[in-house]
Amino acid sequence: MAPHFYDILVVGAGFYGATIAERVANVLGKRVLVIDRRDHIGGNAYSEINPETGIEVHRYGAHLFHTPNKLVWDYLNGFTAFTGYQHRVFTSFKGQVYPMPINLATICQYFGKQMSPDEARALVREQSAELGDAAPRNLEEKAISLIGRPLYEAFIRGYTAKQWQTDPTLLPESIISRLPVRYNFNNRYFSDKYEGLPVDGYTAIFERMLDNPLIEIQTGVDYFAIKDTIPKDKLVVFTGPIDRYFDYRAGELSWRTIDFEPEIVGVGDYQGTAVMNYADEDIPFTRILEFRHFNPERNYQTEKSYIVREYSRFARHEDEPYYPIDTPEDKKVYQAYRSLAEGEENVIFGGRLGTYRYLDMHQAIGAALKAFDTEVQPRLSRA
Ligand code: FAD
Ligand code: UDP
Repeated sequence: MAPHFYDILVVGAGFYGATIAERVANVLGKRVLVIDRRDHIGGNAYSEINPETGIEVHRYGAHLFHTPNKLVWDYLNGFTAFTGYQHRVFTSFKGQVYPMPINLATICQYFGKQMSPDEARALVREQSAELGDAAPRNLEEKAISLIGRPLYEAFIRGYTAKQWQTDPTLLPESIISRLPVRYNFNNRYFSDKYEGLPVDGYTAIFERMLDNPLIEIQTGVDYFAIKDTIPKDKLVVFTGPIDRYFDYRAGELSWRTIDFEPEIVGVGDYQGTAVMNYADEDIPFTRILEFRHFNPERNYQTEKSYIVREYSRFARHEDEPYYPIDTPEDKKVYQAYRSLAEGEENVIFGGRLGTYRYLDMHQAIGAALKAFDTEVQPRLSRA
């Protein structure tokens, strides 16, 4: 499609961009050009079958779908059925294995005795007393307020040091608020009403969302390479990094990236579970994923397994930006970009890179559905 013949350009074929494209084509009957600089659609949720083992692998890290939002759940069920997968995580600390997130089993095992929910609560209250009544101001204080210092030092401090390499008193408390703390034996990782994995894998969702003759997809195309060919009045939804869009003129937003170290091991079951975290600071990786466990319903061969070790580090320009660090300095820089974005009349910034926010998949889809209703549809209907 030549630039003049589409109604909207969507930059990025992840969940945010794909949702906008799908709505514009299927609801408004307008033409969409979707570009992505990668050689595939799906953004970070992209998955593929590893040819040697036949196991589905999420190329950019394990992606577990969960949401409390019925609207998003119903929407996505229009493009895929979900398995009944429920995520559970374990963590290794000093040679012992504990359930994660921290729940009554973790607390009893760590302190080496059976406790009732009230007894465990009382113990944690005592162990978080150092904070007094002050509201927690950062990740460390929030974690201590939730679980007390000993559990923080065992399960959070080392892992967080490896994951963020940033003083935990400079990290926002929102990072740790993602993890529930439970005074019962429920060891599910997520608390949301809806959870599961797509029966045919993630990539199939995107193929179905974008399956409309009104949508043209061009992969391997970088927005900045074609920017000058785009008519100035064309509506653009941009889901790439907002600081890159403005050529870093207000500074660089800081991100964490992950080095994935895959290995095909000659055993049918390497670790007995999908995700094992490593809390000890002297073990360099943060966790090991074993992908076969995400799809127990599949008839995978049992001779080999596909595992991935994750190593976290600061992202440079050429790296994939994964987690916004969001220090107080980042917040200032992002605000400067928000002001610049106000001046870009025909560009809507969305998704996790475009808004510098950690978004779960359901939040990216929810935000895109909202932006479609409030921003995209009104503008395209006027045009
Ligand atoms: P993305 O999926 O990142 O898509 C943006 C796209 O824009 C990319 O494909 C990129 O190539 C493209 N792009 C960027 N710049 C340009 C350019 N200049 N030109 C053309 N294209 C460009 N969420 C969950 O709900 N559950 C999980 O278990 C989970 N696990 C995660 C694990 C990791 C390691 C990470 C990093 C994220 C995880 N997420 C998870 C979050 C999930 O990946 C995001 O919610 C989702 O990717 C958001 O979609 P998006 O469209 O905003 O961004
Ligand atoms: N975290 C931790 N220990 C763990 C798991 C998580 O300290 O065993 C902390 C860590 O700071 C991490 C945050 O909790 O960044 C959020 O965890 P989550 O599992 O949501 O991280 P993600 O899966 O997004 O990497």
